[in-house]
Amino acid sequence: MAKKKRPRVRVYPRVVIRKDVRNQSARAGSIDRIVIHSTESHNRPGSGDIQAIVSWFDNPSAQASSHVIVDAEGQSARIVDDEKKAWTQAQYNSRALSIEQIGFAAQKSWPLEQYRETARWVAYWSLKWGVPIDATHVVTHASLGAAGGGHHDPGPGYDMAKLRRIAKRRAVAMRLRGKPRRKR
Ligand SMILES: [Zn+2]
Repeated sequence: MAKKKRPRVRVYPRVVIRKDVRNQSARAGSIDRIVIHSTESHNRPGSGDIQAIVSWFDNPSAQASSHVIVDAEGQSARIVDDEKKAWTQAQYNSRALSIEQIGFAAQKSWPLEQYRETARWVAYWSLKWGVPIDATHVVTHASLGAAGGGHHDPGPGYDMAKLRRIAKRRAVAMRLRGKPRRKR
């Protein structure tokens, strides 16, 4: 009798859109923070919702961007290289890697697939840049206060402890799996 195979757990982020957006610049400092955001836009099935944010971050009049965007189905866009500065948390831009999650700071809860995909980026960057997965280094945009631009995202309904917990597990899996075959 054939043994039933367990579904393989996805270890690395699932990049469905890759583009180098215009809103970015040279990084002045070294990376020591991962900052979590919400886009304040609606999630929609498919990748059109991510594409809309990519187009906005490629528009010079937006004067905004992030390194990656994650939607509720657990899909990502990669739009600014780690080595470059994305424009999303004011004075923290030079030291941060940023994740925009499609959704609203006012929502009461967030989908598990979105936590998982965001956690893959946190784990990946933690291993790549030596950023510890703790409450000092993996933070919300809101926690940066005025120096971060005075924003309130991703809101009180977003569970950072849960994100860090999943990210730590992903980091263990990544260490076991080894380097990704393709660039993330
Ligand atoms: Zn933000």
